[in-house]
Amino acid sequence: MVEETIFSKIIRKEIPADIVYQDDLVTAFRDISPRAPSHILIIPNKLIPTVNDVEQEDELMLGRMFTAARKIAKDEGIDEDGYRLIMNCNAHGGQEVYHIHMHLLGGRPLGPLLLG
Ligand code: AMP
Repeated sequence: MVEETIFSKIIRKEIPADIVYQDDLVTAFRDISPRAPSHILIIPNKLIPTVNDVEQEDELMLGRMFTAARKIAKDEGIDEDGYRLIMNCNAHGGQEVYHIHMHLLGGRPLGPLLLG
């Protein structure tokens, strides 16, 4: 049994979030605890707990996460200067919310390592 997280409620708009993009496959919203001027989480609308649970049938959605990231980076005005995309998996990866998500971080130079 896969347990929902707070992110499912954000997708369904049952709790507030600053949603910057949503389509049939993915939702993107600003991180509640931003670690860069632009810090956005891009998540699948379908609940997948970790990257270890990704299946071949998810490949379209995974590609959409990247095209959404490209669009959002442009909308944020950070595409030319650059940005970082991060996905954390399980305890050693520092994953806190078990609904896969891509962190999009930018708006300042990030240095060699950020989350950890
Ligand atoms: P991770 O450590 O990769 O699992 O990242 C989880 C991220 O979710 C953290 O950066 C949190 O700040 C963020 N987060 C948790 N709850 C919320 C929320 N309700 N709205 C927006 N971001 C959230």
